[in-house]
Formats: sequence, structure tokens, C-alpha cells
Amino acid sequence: MADNSENKKSVAKTRNFIHELVEKDLSEGKNNGRVHTRFPPEPNGYLHIGHAKAICLDFGTAEKFGGKCNLRFDDTNPTKEDVEFVDSIKEDIKWLGFDWEDRLYYASDFFDDLYEFAVKLIKEGKAYVDDQPSDLISEQRGTPQKPGIESPYRNRPVEDNLDLFRRMKEGEFENGARVLRAKIDMNSPNMHMRDPLMYRISHATHHRTGDKWCIYPMYDFAHGQCDYFEGVTHSLCTLEFEIHRPLYNWFVDQLATDDYRPRQIEFSRLNLTYTMMSKRKLLQLVEEGYVKGWDDPRMPTLSGMRRRGFTPASIRNLIEKVGITKTEGMIDVALLEHAVREDLNKSAQRVMGVLNPLKVVITNYPEDKVEMVQAINNPEDETAGRRDVPFTRELYIEHEDFMEDPPRKFFRLSPGKEVRLRYAYYITCNEVIKNDEGEIVELRCTYDPETKGGNSPDGRKVKGTLHWVSATESVKAEIRLYDRLFEVENPSATKDQDFRGFLNPNSLQVLEACYVEPFVKKGEPLDHFQFERKGYFNIDKDSTPDHLVINRTVTLRDNWAKKMNNK
Ligand code: ATP
Ligand code: MG
Repeated sequence: MADNSENKKSVAKTRNFIHELVEKDLSEGKNNGRVHTRFPPEPNGYLHIGHAKAICLDFGTAEKFGGKCNLRFDDTNPTKEDVEFVDSIKEDIKWLGFDWEDRLYYASDFFDDLYEFAVKLIKEGKAYVDDQPSDLISEQRGTPQKPGIESPYRNRPVEDNLDLFRRMKEGEFENGARVLRAKIDMNSPNMHMRDPLMYRISHATHHRTGDKWCIYPMYDFAHGQCDYFEGVTHSLCTLEFEIHRPLYNWFVDQLATDDYRPRQIEFSRLNLTYTMMSKRKLLQLVEEGYVKGWDDPRMPTLSGMRRRGFTPASIRNLIEKVGITKTEGMIDVALLEHAVREDLNKSAQRVMGVLNPLKVVITNYPEDKVEMVQAINNPEDETAGRRDVPFTRELYIEHEDFMEDPPRKFFRLSPGKEVRLRYAYYITCNEVIKNDEGEIVELRCTYDPETKGGNSPDGRKVKGTLHWVSATESVKAEIRLYDRLFEVENPSATKDQDFRGFLNPNSLQVLEACYVEPFVKKGEPLDHFQFERKGYFNIDKDSTPDHLVINRTVTLRDNWAKKMNNK
């Protein structure tokens, strides 16, 4: 089964304020006309839908201006990082449709350069080793209203600083015993300029550099310099780094030997309703078993969304719709689901599957006969063709499509009523069979052989059309239905309440005995289709040749379109 969803890049079509700033730089002849961006994930978790916004912007901006975009792992915190995360991040970026070509970097590639640069700053009297414990250092930093207090080690002689810093590197001191700080301004109104930390001691094994280092650079001491080393021209990041920008510029100014300066530009994060994007909390959900892994289809991770059946095009379309601004806001998750439906509607093969089966026996149909009826594969796409669906004496329909005592406007099946079985025949219900508990377990119906294909030659109309599958020729499947992982719109909002208290206990519903057309069995994991009237689905990777597992990606009900129409 072919995946028809287009994986062409569709980002950065809409002009945004960052494009304008880049254009201005280009018109002023900055960076010799180069545009070079980077996407800098920290490999301490899987990528989520928020990262997709940064990826589309970083790669999309480079592409728009004929420039380049690097992938850089910001691996300065060995205790939280892992190769599993590195691998998953690469896979997810590729899946989204982007390519860093030969430009894969790690901050750790530059550990030697950063060390040399720190030594240079010490020699210039712009950095010093502080022996105070970290809580005292933070206390002395003051508050935005209250100036900071200078460390008693601030004016240590250069020679002593060089010696101590070397010994820090050589592993002579315990974790936390000393730090290297930049000597900037303890009275700066910007707290980040109050002698920020450059290096900390951490006797940790790094996933790339092993035990070579026991001091690691802080984010602020690594990021801008890596941008500089890599030749990045526009360093796009989220708004929380705006306040770090003076420090970013200060370090780069100390490092630069020419006019070239990477420029940091901030944009607002993507926030979605009913979704949480803190990697730390997502890790907690995984580790504490609230979900079945980073790629659990309820997770806001790209791997979870992929497994759930979301397409890369739908995610890129969402990012495009949302746009790039400096205003913080919350995007309705229904818009994402809308983008998924919009994309799947074009490409998804239509099939029939019964989620809550009720057996129907066609009493006037031959017992061993298997008849093929023709079904349309995709009404949105003529070229998708038709397929054969087996029709037999015993069928399944959806339990909810039958009512013994229907209200007036119930147009589906009930005793004495006639309905159309999609692509097949008209049937009339004659008898309802119940078990000892009084539950309906089977319907006895008759079919009208004149109505093959689902049309009556005498022009007799029926109001209801039901989907169905053969009871004997269909495939049994486990179908997993998903609902929102959180019950509240903003699960991150309440700081003093544990986010785990907002988890939706009904976010996963497993239907063990569903029946689907034999056609579905030919599919591969991730293949998607629409079960008529039931939603978009895909095959889960848990499927085996004997046990078909299917995820519901989204229902057919488009809450976003509905909301827009009501406006
Ligand atoms: P943390 O730094 O707390 O581990 P993070 O979400 O910032 O989490 P990073 O790996 O540092 O994770 O993020 C990589 C890039 O993705 C950064 O440039 C960051 O600004 C951007 N990013 C992260 N979350 C979002 C979001 N919700 N919307 C847009 N961009 C985001
Ligand atoms: Mg970050």
C-alpha cells in the first residue's frame, strides 16, 4: 500500500518577521550574502511538536534564502543525555522532511576550542575561578532590583586562575567545588551579565567524549561560540533566550577576530491546548509508566505522532498556519487534528472496518457463497481505483447501527426496516436474537438480490447506509482508540499542582475484537486508511502476522471546522 501523502517541504511560504530581518541583513551586505541557520536540540529527550516549529523555521529560512542549516546537538550536560535521544532526533528531523546534509555537529566537537577560549578570557582578566558553593553564588547575584555582591575570588591573580582552571580540568576537585565565571558586571540590570558561570565540574561520562572531560561548559558559554565556529549567521531561538542575548553577544565579541557575528533572533514557542511540552515532564511520563514509551501515540512527540498516523505534511502545514511571531499564545489542538484530516483526506484509502461488531445473518443468502462487490478506494482521488470486498451470508455491522426501539429519526437498522449495506445490497431486519442476559447478539435479515451495488432498480429509497464486513472473510484486529492525554486545556499552567493529576484516565481504549476488510492485512506498519464513518487509522508497529493492531489517528469529526463555521 503506497503512502500517498506528499512529503514535499511546504514551510516558510508565508513571510514572517524573521524573513524580514534576514532580508534587511542581506540588503546591507552582511555576512557576504550568506544565510546559515542551525537547529540545536539537547539530546535529553525525544523531539515534540514544539520542536517541529523550530525545525521548520530553521531549515525553512535557510531554504528560502538559498542558505544552509546545521544540525547541532547541544550536548553540554552529560548526565541527562543519551545516544538513544541523538538517534531519535535524527530520525524525526528526516521524517519531517529536512536534511542537514553533511553538517552534523555536536557542541562537544568544540570542547577543546571552548577550553582554549576560556583560557584566553582568563588571561585577559575576563574570567576567574570561584571557590564558593553554588547556593552562595546565586544568593550574591541579587535580584533585578538589588545589585549583586562581588565574589571574594573575583580579583584572583591571572596565574592562580589559570592554575586552578587547569586543575579543574584535570579532575583534581570534586563536583561543585569550584566554577569558572566570566567577569562582567555584578551591577548589571540584566542578571545574566552578573558574572555568569562558564564551566562547572562534573565527573560524568559523556556519550561522545567519554571520560576525557570532567568540566563542562554552561549553555550560555557554548551556544553562541558554537554558532560562531560553525559560521551560523542567524541563530533562531525561543523567547526565553531574549534576556540571554546581551551575554550571547558579549561572549561572541570576545571571541571574534573579524566583523562576522552570528545574530540571535527570538520567536515565540508553540503551545497547544491539552498538550504538555516540557521534556522533563514527558520523561517522567515515560519513566513512571503513564504512557508506553516516548512513541506512545498519545505523546506530543514526533515519534508518537508518527506512530499515531499523523503525516509530516500535516505537521508542517500546522506550523505554517500558526505562523512565526513574538507573541506567546496557545494554539487549539483541534487545528492540528484538522491539518491531519485535511492531509489524510486526500490520500487515505477508504476501507470498511467494524469496531463493535454485531452479527447479521442473511437468511436468504446461500451458505457457502463468497461474492465480490466493488468498492471505491478514494472518492477524492480517481486514480486510486477500486477493490473487491467479499460479501457473505454472515456479516458484521456496528452495534450502534441497530436499535430495537428506535426514536423517530433513527435511519439505521431496526426491526422491519430496510437499509443499504454500502457497495452491496439492501437488507431488511426480520428477527432479533438475544442471549440469556437479554443482550442482542445477532440479527436475522433478508437481502434483496435486485439491489446489487447498493441501488434499487425500482427506485426504492432507503435512508440509512451502513458499513459492514463479512464475518467469515474478514480479519480480526485489535483497535486502539485515543483521546487527549490531559483533561485540562493547559496542563502546565498550575505550578503548585502536579501535572500528573490532570491525566485523562480514558486516553486509551483498546477494542480487542474488531473486524476489518481483508485488504487491510496487506498493509505495513504506518500505512493509513479511512474506515468509513469511523475515522482515519493506521497499522501499528505492534502488529504481527497473526495479530493485527490498528491505531485510530483521528475521528472524522472536525471540531476545528465546526468551530470556524459557528463563528
Ligand atoms: P530544555 O532546554 O528544557 O531541555 P527545550 O524544549 O528547550 O527543552 P531543546 O532541545 O533545547 O529543548 O530545544 C531545541 C530547540 O527547539 C531550541 O532552539 C528551542 O528553542 C526550540 N523549542 C523547544 N520547544 C519549543 C516550542 N514549544 N516551540 C518552538 N520551539 C521550541
Ligand atoms: Mg533548551
